[in-house]
Amino acid sequence: MYLCRRFNKKATNMIANYPSVLLIYTGGTIGMIENPETGALENFDFDHLLKHVPELKRFNYRISSYQFDPPIDSSDMEPLYWAKLVKIINYNYDYFDGFVILHGTDTMAYTASALSFMLENLSKPVILTGSQLPIGTLRTDGKENLITAIEIAAAKNANGTAMVPEVCIFFENHLMRGNRTTKINAENFNAFRSFNYPALARVGIHIKYEPNLIHKPDPTKALKPHYLFDTNVVILTLFPGIQESIITSLLHVEGLKAVVLKTFGSGNAPQKPWFIEQLKAATERGIIIVNITQCSSGAVEMERYETGIQLLQAGVISGYDSTPECAVTKLMFLLGHGLSNKEIRYKMNSCLIGEITKPNQQ
Ligand code: ASP
Repeated sequence: MYLCRRFNKKATNMIANYPSVLLIYTGGTIGMIENPETGALENFDFDHLLKHVPELKRFNYRISSYQFDPPIDSSDMEPLYWAKLVKIINYNYDYFDGFVILHGTDTMAYTASALSFMLENLSKPVILTGSQLPIGTLRTDGKENLITAIEIAAAKNANGTAMVPEVCIFFENHLMRGNRTTKINAENFNAFRSFNYPALARVGIHIKYEPNLIHKPDPTKALKPHYLFDTNVVILTLFPGIQESIITSLLHVEGLKAVVLKTFGSGNAPQKPWFIEQLKAATERGIIIVNITQCSSGAVEMERYETGIQLLQAGVISGYDSTPECAVTKLMFLLGHGLSNKEIRYKMNSCLIGEITKPNQQ
């Protein structure tokens, strides 16, 4: 189960002192190839990808690989695949210094957020990367992303501990905390940003790490993998003119357990009585409503304006400076673990693994 293939012959001794990295290929543009008939990009297999990066053989690392079969476009990503990734990492955890996940860019930030909660007590790097152009194309960004991600996954401090023991996204010269990252561009190589938390490393001639920003795990705690999710959640983006009948029917969908409410500015919403009443009735029925801002950068401060205070009074909780990807995966994760409404509300307001900045932390 979850056995990996070795393709790097240079590091010949399995137990040797070579840094070791497991490369997990899930799919995405990085490994795609153009269909000559339709011109559309389609998934291809891992050997194709490796053929185009002969540089990997030059690493003095033991590199092994695991390929999703078939590889998936990340638009098809599901909690089931997140569980599969966690199983692969957990199964191979003691045999590798770090893990690189090749993933489509479209939902990479969701996967990175989900994994950050699923891999409790992680003390090794899990670096997600991908590319905007397939690795076989001349101007691909995939090669550099892949090569640098491997180097980061293998990097250690002088005392032998991992340099970046957390789930990250590496893309176009920036190493970012996974659960802080959002895809912001469908075209540019510079496709990801972490608006509310600085980069953990910047890459130029050198890789410049920011040790003070990087998570420090408790070395006495063993990895604790989690697999469960409850997907009875929805993301609701407000806009001027949003209709009462739509909000009412959405909040009454059978089985709905939580809503990520994307509000205006610093957490503001319409003051119309029907709107506040619907939200209040929903929270009283046990639906958890988390307020995050539609702005890319900054945090929700519900105490700041009357419009925000009304939400607080309706039982809505603050998502602080959470990304939508992080808020929705955190909710699914907490709901999946059968916690009480009170516990989930408490944990949504707590920083579990660097995903939010509470006002008193700044
Ligand atoms: N549709 C692709 C995916 O997310 C896009 C990419 O990889 O950049 O799998």
